[in-house]
Amino acid sequence: MQYTLHLLRTGPHDLEGLDFERRVDRLRAAAEQRSLGAYLALQGGEGRFSPFKGGVQRLLRAAEAIPAEVFSAIAGFKWPGFTLVGTDRRYWHAAGTVNLPLEAAFRPSLWWGLTHETGHVLLKLHRPWLDFDARFVEEIETKTGRQAGTHLFNDAVDTISEIFLDIYDYTLFFRGRLECYLRSVWQYLETDLRSDPERLEALSIYALRSFFVVLKNRKRTDISGLKYGEVKTELDAFMRSLDTFAPGLAQELSAADLRSAVLEEFATYKAFASRMLESVSRANELYQAQVRRVRPQTRRALASVMAGRVFDGNFSASELVHDLNYERIKTGSHLSWKTELAALLSLCAGSGNFVRSIPEILSGRE
Ligand SMILES: [Zn+2]
Repeated sequence: MQYTLHLLRTGPHDLEGLDFERRVDRLRAAAEQRSLGAYLALQGGEGRFSPFKGGVQRLLRAAEAIPAEVFSAIAGFKWPGFTLVGTDRRYWHAAGTVNLPLEAAFRPSLWWGLTHETGHVLLKLHRPWLDFDARFVEEIETKTGRQAGTHLFNDAVDTISEIFLDIYDYTLFFRGRLECYLRSVWQYLETDLRSDPERLEALSIYALRSFFVVLKNRKRTDISGLKYGEVKTELDAFMRSLDTFAPGLAQELSAADLRSAVLEEFATYKAFASRMLESVSRANELYQAQVRRVRPQTRRALASVMAGRVFDGNFSASELVHDLNYERIKTGSHLSWKTELAALLSLCAGSGNFVRSIPEILSGRE
């Protein structure tokens, strides 16, 4: 409810605030998932979690550690949403909630997608972050030649948000590990796009988004001023790297077609690069301040988790998940079940008091 009220107050033009059906759907799914393993009989406390049947409870609670941490660092207020598992097939956000795909459920090393989705919720709730105010709307109209209110204009706003969130995700949470980032994203996309052939059409946008990340990584802060020849050289190198990160996709596609599609899109969106980079660096300062407070503890937590032991202390949840992912990618293998479980229980133990029980979710109480 709080999320809806906030959206109606800050973004009355945003129809998501009025999407009550979806909101009710999310609430129902959240209550159902949380009721598995909760005492809901008359003699039990309402919504109290059972210590014996807590598998899904712990999972939901652990997954909430990441959005909760990101919100407290960047937005400065409590995340008014909750997590769901398997409600959507992929990482997804809707009505302020964040979904974890089913196959990632008990594997925190695959939770890297939560930070990008949390970014979407932040963007909706915390507008000054990348402000789509009247001036920005005008700027988008002028630079893209698309009129506000049209489908094409909305597509442009979506693409700008996605590029921005990919740069933000990479900068804040992958911290210069480009190979790790591209491998995580493109392995996921390869599976995702294969099971949904229509989405291949969207591939040029995904490639465009990653291309911006690559440029950011190369410290090309003057993205909008890059010469055509420089863009082509950078893009060629990026396209070659896709052969490694997503070999299946690379086989299916004409590299030349994809390359020219990305070049064309890049010409439209490069104009927004400096605004995005400024906002990302503001968010990064806020997040790094949080990370500096807990970093040595995070290192200890990671060592403990890798040894299969639960770490019961304060650490940066998103850092832990990204380091687990990094570890997996470095060794090219899956982490042991013991490590995944230790990570899950550590995130749950170190998660403080943000876990949302059924009455809290239904009443929308803080
Ligand atoms: Zn997104």
